[in-house]
Amino acid sequence: MINPLRGMKDLTFDESQRFVHIVTTAIGIAKRYGYSYIETPILEETSLFKRSVGNSSDIVSKEMYQFEDKGGNDVCMRPEGTAGVVRAFVSAKLDRQPVKQKFYYYGPMFRYERPQKGRLREFHQFGCESFGEGSVYEDFTIITMLGQIFDTLGIGFDLQINSLGCTECMPPYKEKLVGFLTEIKEELCEDCNRRIGTNPIRVLDCKNKTCQSLLTTAPKLINDLCDSCDTDFKRLQTLLDKAGISYEVDTNLVRGLDYYNKTAFEFVSNDIGAQSAIAGGGRYDKLVEYLDGRPTPAVGFAVGIERIMELVQMPEPGKSGYYMGAMVPEAIEQVIMLANRKRASEKVTVEYTSKGFKSHMKGVDKANARYALLIGEDELANGTVWVKDLESKEEKTLPLSEIQEI
Ligand SMILES: [Zn+2]
Ligand SMILES: [Zn+2]
Repeated sequence: MINPLRGMKDLTFDESQRFVHIVTTAIGIAKRYGYSYIETPILEETSLFKRSVGNSSDIVSKEMYQFEDKGGNDVCMRPEGTAGVVRAFVSAKLDRQPVKQKFYYYGPMFRYERPQKGRLREFHQFGCESFGEGSVYEDFTIITMLGQIFDTLGIGFDLQINSLGCTECMPPYKEKLVGFLTEIKEELCEDCNRRIGTNPIRVLDCKNKTCQSLLTTAPKLINDLCDSCDTDFKRLQTLLDKAGISYEVDTNLVRGLDYYNKTAFEFVSNDIGAQSAIAGGGRYDKLVEYLDGRPTPAVGFAVGIERIMELVQMPEPGKSGYYMGAMVPEAIEQVIMLANRKRASEKVTVEYTSKGFKSHMKGVDKANARYALLIGEDELANGTVWVKDLESKEEKTLPLSEIQEI
Protein backbone atom coordinates (compact mmCIF):
# COMPACT_ATOMS: atom_id res chain seq x y z
CA MET A 1 0.00 0.00 0.00
CA ILE A 2 1.37 3.40 -0.95
CA ASN A 3 0.72 6.20 1.54
CA PRO A 4 1.00 9.94 0.99
CA LEU A 5 4.42 11.48 1.66
CA ARG A 6 5.23 12.77 5.14
CA GLY A 7 3.56 16.07 5.83
CA MET A 8 1.14 15.67 2.94
CA LYS A 9 -2.45 14.57 3.14
CA ASP A 10 -5.55 13.73 1.17
CA LEU A 11 -8.71 15.73 1.66
CA THR A 12 -11.99 13.85 1.42
CA PHE A 13 -15.61 14.08 2.58
CA ASP A 14 -15.98 16.55 5.47
CA GLU A 15 -12.55 18.13 4.95
CA SER A 16 -12.85 18.53 1.21
CA GLN A 17 -16.35 19.98 1.66
CA ARG A 18 -14.93 22.51 4.09
CA PHE A 19 -12.11 23.28 1.67
CA VAL A 20 -14.54 23.94 -1.19
CA HIS A 21 -16.80 26.03 1.05
CA ILE A 22 -13.86 28.22 2.16
CA VAL A 23 -12.58 28.71 -1.37
CA THR A 24 -15.99 29.42 -2.96
CA THR A 25 -16.90 31.87 -0.19
CA ALA A 26 -13.59 33.71 -0.56
CA ILE A 27 -13.87 33.78 -4.36
CA GLY A 28 -17.41 35.17 -4.22
CA ILE A 29 -16.29 38.03 -1.99
CA ALA A 30 -13.05 38.73 -3.92
CA LYS A 31 -15.05 39.04 -7.15
CA ARG A 32 -17.29 41.67 -5.54
CA TYR A 33 -14.11 43.69 -4.90
CA GLY A 34 -13.03 43.41 -8.54
CA TYR A 35 -10.48 40.59 -8.28
CA SER A 36 -9.98 38.11 -11.11
CA TYR A 37 -8.42 34.67 -10.95
CA ILE A 38 -4.73 34.12 -11.64
CA GLU A 39 -3.15 30.69 -11.96
CA THR A 40 0.62 30.50 -11.75
CA PRO A 41 2.93 27.46 -11.86
CA ILE A 42 3.68 25.53 -8.67
CA LEU A 43 7.29 25.06 -9.79
CA GLU A 44 9.43 28.17 -10.24
CA GLU A 45 13.13 29.01 -10.46
CA THR A 46 14.60 28.97 -6.96
CA SER A 47 16.06 32.44 -7.54
CA LEU A 48 12.54 33.89 -7.63
CA PHE A 49 12.00 33.07 -3.96
CA LYS A 50 15.53 33.98 -2.93
CA ARG A 51 15.06 37.42 -4.41
CA SER A 52 11.50 38.06 -3.28
CA VAL A 53 10.93 36.21 -0.02
CA GLY A 54 14.49 36.99 1.00
CA ASN A 55 17.56 34.87 1.62
CA SER A 56 17.56 35.51 5.34
CA SER A 57 13.97 34.39 5.92
CA ASP A 58 13.32 31.00 7.52
CA ILE A 59 11.35 29.99 4.45
CA VAL A 60 14.32 30.38 2.12
CA SER A 61 17.09 29.41 4.52
CA LYS A 62 15.48 26.28 6.00
CA GLU A 63 12.16 25.32 4.45
CA MET A 64 12.44 25.37 0.67
CA TYR A 65 11.18 22.38 -1.27
CA GLN A 66 14.08 22.77 -3.64
CA PHE A 67 15.71 20.38 -6.08
CA GLU A 68 17.56 20.11 -9.34
CA ASP A 69 15.35 18.95 -12.22
CA LYS A 70 16.49 16.57 -14.97
CA GLY A 71 17.73 19.51 -17.04
CA GLY A 72 19.97 20.67 -14.19
CA ASN A 73 17.79 23.69 -13.31
CA ASP A 74 17.62 24.84 -9.70
CA VAL A 75 13.85 24.79 -9.07
CA CYS A 76 11.54 25.09 -6.11
CA MET A 77 7.93 24.23 -5.29
CA ARG A 78 6.39 27.55 -4.35
CA PRO A 79 6.48 28.19 -0.58
CA GLU A 80 3.97 31.05 -0.84
CA GLY A 81 1.85 32.71 -3.49
CA THR A 82 2.86 36.35 -3.80
CA ALA A 83 6.25 35.86 -5.50
CA GLY A 84 4.74 33.85 -8.36
CA VAL A 85 1.89 36.31 -8.88
CA VAL A 86 4.32 39.24 -9.02
CA ARG A 87 6.58 37.30 -11.39
CA ALA A 88 3.57 36.62 -13.62
CA PHE A 89 2.57 40.29 -13.42
CA VAL A 90 6.03 41.35 -14.62
CA SER A 91 6.33 38.51 -17.21
CA ALA A 92 3.07 39.66 -18.83
CA LYS A 93 4.30 43.29 -18.78
CA LEU A 94 1.25 44.33 -16.81
CA ASP A 95 3.52 46.76 -14.93
CA ARG A 96 3.58 48.85 -18.13
CA GLN A 97 -0.18 49.27 -18.23
CA PRO A 98 -1.58 52.29 -16.49
CA VAL A 99 -4.57 50.37 -15.09
CA LYS A 100 -4.95 48.80 -11.67
CA GLN A 101 -4.90 45.02 -11.60
CA LYS A 102 -6.32 42.79 -8.90
CA PHE A 103 -5.84 39.04 -8.72
CA TYR A 104 -6.94 36.23 -6.44
CA TYR A 105 -5.40 32.77 -6.33
CA TYR A 106 -5.66 29.59 -4.33
CA GLY A 107 -3.74 26.36 -4.33
CA PRO A 108 -1.04 24.25 -2.73
CA MET A 109 2.13 25.69 -1.21
CA PHE A 110 5.14 23.65 -0.08
CA ARG A 111 7.56 23.99 2.80
CA TYR A 112 9.99 21.35 3.91
CA GLU A 113 9.16 21.68 7.61
CA ARG A 114 9.98 19.22 10.32
CA PRO A 115 6.85 17.06 10.44
CA GLN A 116 7.18 16.42 14.20
CA LYS A 117 5.94 19.97 14.66
CA GLY A 118 2.63 18.80 13.22
CA ARG A 119 3.11 21.11 10.27
CA LEU A 120 2.14 20.13 6.77
CA ARG A 121 4.68 20.16 3.99
CA GLU A 122 1.93 20.68 1.47
CA PHE A 123 -0.74 23.14 2.58
CA HIS A 124 -3.12 25.50 0.83
CA GLN A 125 -3.59 29.22 0.70
CA PHE A 126 -6.13 31.62 -0.69
CA GLY A 127 -4.68 35.02 -1.49
CA CYS A 128 -5.34 38.37 -3.13
CA GLU A 129 -2.89 40.83 -4.66
CA SER A 130 -3.81 44.36 -5.73
CA PHE A 131 -1.38 46.19 -8.04
CA GLY A 132 -1.10 49.85 -8.94
CA GLU A 133 -2.84 51.47 -5.98
CA GLY A 134 -0.60 53.21 -3.48
CA SER A 135 -3.36 54.78 -1.41
CA VAL A 136 -3.93 53.62 2.15
CA TYR A 137 -7.62 53.38 1.22
CA GLU A 138 -6.70 50.21 -0.64
CA ASP A 139 -5.03 48.82 2.50
CA PHE A 140 -8.22 49.53 4.41
CA THR A 141 -10.34 47.96 1.66
CA ILE A 142 -8.32 44.76 1.50
CA ILE A 143 -8.44 44.40 5.31
CA THR A 144 -12.21 44.91 5.21
CA MET A 145 -12.56 42.31 2.49
CA LEU A 146 -10.59 39.75 4.47
CA GLY A 147 -12.69 40.53 7.55
CA GLN A 148 -15.81 39.94 5.47
CA ILE A 149 -14.49 36.56 4.33
CA PHE A 150 -13.98 35.47 7.94
CA ASP A 151 -17.35 36.88 9.02
CA THR A 152 -19.10 34.98 6.24
CA LEU A 153 -17.30 31.78 7.22
CA GLY A 154 -18.35 32.31 10.84
CA ILE A 155 -14.76 32.65 12.08
CA GLY A 156 -13.96 35.05 14.91
CA PHE A 157 -10.67 36.95 14.72
CA ASP A 158 -8.51 39.65 16.24
CA LEU A 159 -6.89 42.10 13.87
CA GLN A 160 -3.34 43.30 14.50
CA ILE A 161 -1.76 46.07 12.48
CA ASN A 162 1.60 47.77 12.26
CA SER A 163 3.52 50.05 9.95
CA LEU A 164 6.88 48.90 8.59
CA GLY A 165 7.79 52.34 7.27
CA CYS A 166 9.38 53.03 3.91
CA THR A 167 12.81 53.45 2.34
CA GLU A 168 13.02 56.87 4.00
CA CYS A 169 12.21 56.01 7.62
CA MET A 170 13.09 52.30 7.86
CA PRO A 171 16.90 52.46 7.33
CA PRO A 172 17.63 55.01 10.11
CA TYR A 173 15.31 53.04 12.41
CA LYS A 174 17.10 49.81 11.55
CA GLU A 175 20.40 51.43 12.54
CA LYS A 176 18.95 52.56 15.85
CA LEU A 177 17.55 49.07 16.48
CA VAL A 178 20.86 47.37 15.66
CA GLY A 179 22.53 49.71 18.18
CA PHE A 180 20.02 48.68 20.85
CA LEU A 181 20.29 44.98 20.02
CA THR A 182 24.09 45.02 20.02
CA GLU A 183 24.05 46.23 23.62
CA ILE A 184 21.88 43.32 24.79
CA LYS A 185 23.43 40.84 22.34
CA GLU A 186 24.79 38.54 25.02
CA GLU A 187 21.38 37.88 26.50
CA LEU A 188 19.55 37.27 23.21
CA CYS A 189 19.03 33.80 21.75
CA GLU A 190 21.16 32.29 18.99
CA ASP A 191 18.60 33.02 16.25
CA CYS A 192 18.39 36.65 17.30
CA ASN A 193 22.17 36.98 17.29
CA ARG A 194 22.30 35.69 13.75
CA ARG A 195 19.48 38.03 12.72
CA ILE A 196 21.16 41.17 14.07
CA GLY A 197 23.50 40.87 11.11
CA THR A 198 21.07 39.54 8.49
CA ASN A 199 17.54 40.80 9.24
CA PRO A 200 17.46 42.76 12.53
CA ILE A 201 13.75 43.62 12.17
CA ARG A 202 12.93 39.92 12.51
CA VAL A 203 14.44 39.94 16.02
CA LEU A 204 11.31 41.80 17.16
CA ASP A 205 9.31 38.74 16.14
CA CYS A 206 11.34 36.26 18.26
CA LYS A 207 9.12 33.85 20.20
CA ASN A 208 11.76 33.20 22.88
CA LYS A 209 10.43 34.39 26.27
CA THR A 210 13.75 35.91 27.42
CA CYS A 211 14.14 37.77 24.13
CA GLN A 212 10.57 39.02 24.32
CA SER A 213 11.07 40.50 27.78
CA LEU A 214 14.35 42.15 26.71
CA LEU A 215 12.67 43.63 23.65
CA THR A 216 9.91 45.48 25.50
CA THR A 217 12.19 48.52 25.71
CA ALA A 218 13.39 48.29 22.10
CA PRO A 219 12.92 51.44 19.98
CA LYS A 220 9.65 51.33 18.05
CA LEU A 221 9.37 52.29 14.41
CA ILE A 222 5.90 53.79 14.82
CA ASN A 223 7.54 56.54 16.89
CA ASP A 224 10.03 57.25 14.09
CA LEU A 225 7.83 57.07 10.98
CA CYS A 226 8.32 59.72 8.30
CA ASP A 227 5.41 62.11 7.68
CA SER A 228 3.96 60.13 4.78
CA CYS A 229 4.04 56.79 6.65
CA ASP A 230 2.74 58.38 9.83
CA THR A 231 -0.19 60.04 8.03
CA ASP A 232 -1.10 56.80 6.28
CA PHE A 233 -0.91 54.72 9.45
CA LYS A 234 -3.10 57.18 11.35
CA ARG A 235 -5.58 57.32 8.48
CA LEU A 236 -5.81 53.54 8.40
CA GLN A 237 -6.67 53.54 12.10
CA THR A 238 -9.29 56.26 11.62
CA LEU A 239 -10.90 54.28 8.80
CA LEU A 240 -10.98 51.08 10.86
CA ASP A 241 -12.52 53.02 13.76
CA LYS A 242 -15.18 54.47 11.48
CA ALA A 243 -15.97 51.04 10.06
CA GLY A 244 -16.31 49.61 13.57
CA ILE A 245 -13.51 47.10 13.01
CA SER A 246 -11.57 46.60 16.22
CA TYR A 247 -7.80 46.19 16.00
CA GLU A 248 -4.66 46.33 18.03
CA VAL A 249 -1.40 48.03 17.04
CA ASP A 250 1.31 45.42 17.47
CA THR A 251 4.73 47.00 17.02
CA ASN A 252 6.36 43.56 16.96
CA LEU A 253 4.32 42.51 13.94
CA VAL A 254 7.04 42.48 11.31
CA ARG A 255 6.14 39.57 8.98
CA GLY A 256 8.89 37.20 7.92
CA LEU A 257 9.37 38.58 4.45
CA ASP A 258 11.72 41.28 3.23
CA TYR A 259 9.47 43.01 0.72
CA TYR A 260 6.80 44.40 3.02
CA ASN A 261 6.60 48.13 3.72
CA LYS A 262 4.07 50.47 5.35
CA THR A 263 0.89 48.62 6.39
CA ALA A 264 1.35 45.11 7.78
CA PHE A 265 -1.54 43.15 9.27
CA GLU A 266 -2.38 39.80 10.73
CA PHE A 267 -5.68 38.15 11.56
CA VAL A 268 -5.25 35.91 14.58
CA SER A 269 -7.50 33.39 16.24
CA ASN A 270 -7.60 32.14 19.81
CA ASP A 271 -9.60 29.10 18.77
CA ILE A 272 -6.69 26.99 17.51
CA GLY A 273 -4.61 26.52 20.63
CA ALA A 274 -2.29 29.40 21.39
CA GLN A 275 -3.12 32.61 19.61
CA SER A 276 -1.98 32.08 16.06
CA ALA A 277 -2.17 33.76 12.69
CA ILE A 278 -4.88 32.60 10.29
CA ALA A 279 -4.09 35.22 7.65
CA GLY A 280 -1.51 37.88 7.04
CA GLY A 281 -0.67 40.53 4.56
CA GLY A 282 0.36 44.05 3.88
CA ARG A 283 1.87 46.44 1.45
CA TYR A 284 4.87 45.48 -0.69
CA ASP A 285 5.56 48.49 -2.89
CA LYS A 286 9.13 47.40 -3.77
CA LEU A 287 8.62 43.83 -4.88
CA VAL A 288 7.64 44.49 -8.49
CA GLU A 289 10.86 46.49 -8.90
CA TYR A 290 12.95 43.80 -7.16
CA LEU A 291 11.66 41.40 -9.78
CA ASP A 292 12.66 43.71 -12.66
CA GLY A 293 9.30 45.38 -13.21
CA ARG A 294 8.50 49.06 -13.18
CA PRO A 295 7.83 50.57 -9.75
CA THR A 296 4.28 49.50 -8.87
CA PRO A 297 2.69 49.84 -5.45
CA ALA A 298 0.97 46.68 -4.27
CA VAL A 299 -0.88 45.26 -1.31
CA GLY A 300 -2.13 41.74 -0.61
CA PHE A 301 -2.85 38.96 1.84
CA ALA A 302 -2.90 35.18 2.14
CA VAL A 303 -5.12 32.93 4.25
CA GLY A 304 -3.95 29.51 5.40
CA ILE A 305 -6.82 27.22 4.46
CA GLU A 306 -5.84 24.27 6.72
CA ARG A 307 -5.53 26.68 9.64
CA ILE A 308 -9.16 27.73 9.40
CA MET A 309 -10.61 24.40 8.30
CA GLU A 310 -11.76 23.44 11.81
CA LEU A 311 -13.05 26.94 12.58
CA VAL A 312 -15.48 27.21 9.68
CA GLN A 313 -19.17 27.06 10.53
CA MET A 314 -20.59 24.93 7.76
CA PRO A 315 -24.09 25.86 6.58
CA GLU A 316 -26.76 23.24 7.42
CA PRO A 317 -27.25 21.22 4.25
CA GLY A 318 -30.97 21.48 3.36
CA LYS A 319 -32.80 18.70 1.52
CA SER A 320 -32.13 19.06 -2.17
CA GLY A 321 -32.42 17.20 -5.43
CA TYR A 322 -34.04 13.90 -6.31
CA TYR A 323 -33.81 10.26 -5.33
CA MET A 324 -35.07 7.81 -7.93
CA GLY A 325 -35.58 4.08 -7.69
CA ALA A 326 -37.47 1.07 -9.03
CA MET A 327 -39.51 -1.39 -6.99
CA VAL A 328 -39.55 -4.05 -9.73
CA PRO A 329 -36.57 -4.97 -11.94
CA GLU A 330 -38.53 -4.21 -15.14
CA ALA A 331 -38.78 -0.54 -14.10
CA ILE A 332 -35.05 0.09 -13.68
CA GLU A 333 -34.36 1.29 -17.20
CA GLN A 334 -37.34 3.60 -17.01
CA VAL A 335 -35.86 5.06 -13.81
CA ILE A 336 -32.43 5.51 -15.35
CA MET A 337 -33.87 7.33 -18.38
CA LEU A 338 -35.86 9.55 -16.07
CA ALA A 339 -32.74 10.34 -14.00
CA ASN A 340 -30.74 11.23 -17.09
CA ARG A 341 -33.42 13.69 -18.22
CA LYS A 342 -33.68 15.32 -14.83
CA ARG A 343 -29.90 15.62 -14.42
CA ALA A 344 -29.85 18.26 -17.13
CA SER A 345 -30.88 20.68 -14.41
CA GLU A 346 -31.01 18.90 -11.05
CA LYS A 347 -28.96 16.78 -8.67
CA VAL A 348 -30.22 13.20 -8.85
CA THR A 349 -29.28 10.15 -6.80
CA VAL A 350 -30.33 7.00 -8.59
CA GLU A 351 -30.51 3.45 -7.19
CA TYR A 352 -29.73 0.76 -9.79
CA THR A 353 -31.17 -2.13 -7.79
CA SER A 354 -34.91 -2.67 -7.45
CA LYS A 355 -35.93 -2.67 -3.79
CA GLY A 356 -38.90 -2.51 -1.47
CA PHE A 357 -40.45 0.79 -0.42
CA LYS A 358 -38.86 0.99 3.07
CA SER A 359 -35.42 0.26 1.74
CA HIS A 360 -35.79 3.05 -0.83
CA MET A 361 -36.95 5.51 1.81
CA LYS A 362 -33.73 4.85 3.74
CA GLY A 363 -31.84 5.76 0.56
CA VAL A 364 -33.84 8.97 0.28
CA ASP A 365 -32.78 9.88 3.81
CA LYS A 366 -29.14 9.12 3.14
CA ALA A 367 -29.14 11.19 -0.05
CA ASN A 368 -30.85 14.03 1.86
CA ALA A 369 -33.09 14.38 -1.20
CA ARG A 370 -36.00 16.79 -1.41
CA TYR A 371 -38.06 14.52 -3.71
CA ALA A 372 -38.44 10.75 -3.85
CA LEU A 373 -39.53 9.27 -7.19
CA LEU A 374 -40.36 5.57 -7.31
CA ILE A 375 -41.70 3.31 -10.05
CA GLY A 376 -43.36 0.03 -9.03
CA GLU A 377 -45.48 -2.50 -10.85
CA ASP A 378 -48.64 -0.31 -11.02
CA GLU A 379 -46.76 2.81 -12.07
CA LEU A 380 -44.95 0.88 -14.79
CA ALA A 381 -48.23 -0.50 -16.15
CA ASN A 382 -49.91 2.95 -16.07
CA GLY A 383 -46.99 5.05 -17.31
CA THR A 384 -46.87 6.96 -14.03
CA VAL A 385 -44.43 7.67 -11.22
CA TRP A 386 -44.99 7.93 -7.45
CA VAL A 387 -43.60 11.20 -6.03
CA LYS A 388 -43.10 12.40 -2.48
CA ASP A 389 -41.99 15.91 -1.47
CA LEU A 390 -39.95 15.28 1.69
CA GLU A 391 -40.44 18.84 2.90
CA SER A 392 -44.22 19.23 2.54
CA LYS A 393 -44.69 15.43 2.99
CA GLU A 394 -47.13 15.56 0.07
CA GLU A 395 -47.41 12.38 -2.02
CA LYS A 396 -48.92 11.91 -5.47
CA THR A 397 -48.85 9.73 -8.55
CA LEU A 398 -48.16 11.60 -11.79
CA PRO A 399 -48.09 10.62 -15.47
CA LEU A 400 -44.44 10.36 -16.66
CA SER A 401 -45.12 13.18 -19.13
CA GLU A 402 -45.69 15.63 -16.26
CA ILE A 403 -42.46 14.82 -14.46
CA GLN A 404 -40.70 17.99 -15.64
CA GLU A 405 -43.08 20.01 -13.53
CA ILE A 406 -41.94 18.62 -10.20
ZN1 LIG B 1 8.28 56.34 5.75
ZN1 LIG C 1 15.48 35.47 20.23
